[in-house]
Amino acid sequence: MDPDRLPELGGTTASLQRFRYCAHQGLLKHAIPTDCGGYGNRFADLVAAHEALGKSCKDSGLLLSINAHLWGALFPLINYGTAQQQETYLPPLLTGQWLGGHAITEPQAGSDLNALTMSATQTDEGFLLNGHKRYITNTPIADVLVVYARLDTKLSAFIVHNDDVGADFLGSPQVSGCQSATMGDVILTHCLIPITRQLGKTGSGNMIVQQALELERAFIFAGLCGVMAWQLDNVVKFSRERTVNGLHLGKNQAISHKIADMKVRLDTIRLWVNECARLKDNNKRITLASAQTKLFAAEAFLQSSLDAVQILGSSGLLEDSPMARLVNDALASRLFSGSSEIQKNIIAALLGTGEGYR
Ligand SMILES: Cc1cc2nc3c(=O)[nH]c(=O)nc-3n(C[C@H](O)[C@H](O)[C@H](O)COP(=O)(O)OP(=O)(O)OC[C@H]3O[C@@H](n4cnc5c(N)ncnc54)[C@H](O)[C@@H]3O)c2cc1C
Repeated sequence: MDPDRLPELGGTTASLQRFRYCAHQGLLKHAIPTDCGGYGNRFADLVAAHEALGKSCKDSGLLLSINAHLWGALFPLINYGTAQQQETYLPPLLTGQWLGGHAITEPQAGSDLNALTMSATQTDEGFLLNGHKRYITNTPIADVLVVYARLDTKLSAFIVHNDDVGADFLGSPQVSGCQSATMGDVILTHCLIPITRQLGKTGSGNMIVQQALELERAFIFAGLCGVMAWQLDNVVKFSRERTVNGLHLGKNQAISHKIADMKVRLDTIRLWVNECARLKDNNKRITLASAQTKLFAAEAFLQSSLDAVQILGSSGLLEDSPMARLVNDALASRLFSGSSEIQKNIIAALLGTGEGYR
């Protein structure tokens, strides 16, 4: 993808334009079967395409937006949608005509899925949804969201449209990381949706959300590897150009060792992401590998972003410095798709110890 063709405008419209540009390049069709409208290629191809995009756009927010769309809406519809739902939603989601995402987190409950309280009540006309979601990537501009709510106390998934009566997709609050992605609350007040908009069976919400999060954890760092590769290139260039005491900055071992660590972190994330792709391409489970990938990658991204700013000195901390911005993006990455602590809980639980997981 040509970075110069990604619009550099500010605000909501720019987010949508940049998303649609990527969609028009076919980015949303990787690892999707041809009978669903995709390329029928491998997850390995998806990983390569996302890394190329990350390197050209250097925009963690755009990558977050695309990942929320893919793993939050498109893949759940492919895996759990009825024929009618797939016919309705897949074409506009694959072409980027519609933007999707998923709404799990609530003001009082993030990591703890058991504490989610949004409710769904079945009536003669359809499902009535009531409740409040927070930190939802792609609102207010998302066209559709997969929303998780309790139906008869059982976590279930529903497809909610931006223009449904009683649905408010808001543009705030927004966190300070990945800011080029839009984010906000979703408030549903007696929001009536047709029966045909339930995704999967009653009570299958847990399974759908876990699968969505596993995919997000496994592959969101494919694009971020591209951003980190650009970060590393910049730091290497700076270390060769900047002179201190008559020597290139990188001649100081304290600096060159930081750069070596950044390279090892980046390549280790690549190995992990590609291992997830290999497992998916061989129809293997990724519960453990995706948690390990996300945990390692988010912590590595933060450490490398701190190192990059330190190596660049105060120029790395200038208000509009993209390097300073990456520190906040990395902090956000330790929280989205389940925090680092939750990934450790998952890994420990799979080893037969610890307290379980989101
Ligand atoms: C950029 C960004 C995008 C996001 N996009 C979305 C989205 O599209 N849809 C969506 O639904 N949500 C989204 N979120 C929300 C995100 O999933 C939650 O922030 C995350 O799950 C943590 O929940 P919380 O913020 O409520 O923190 P809490 O769950 O309240 O946790 C607070 C702290 O306690 C720790 N903690 C919690 N439970 C445990 C435990 N059992 N053991 C050890 N430590 C624990 C956490 O790790 C965290 O450090 C997004 C968040 C960010 C930052």
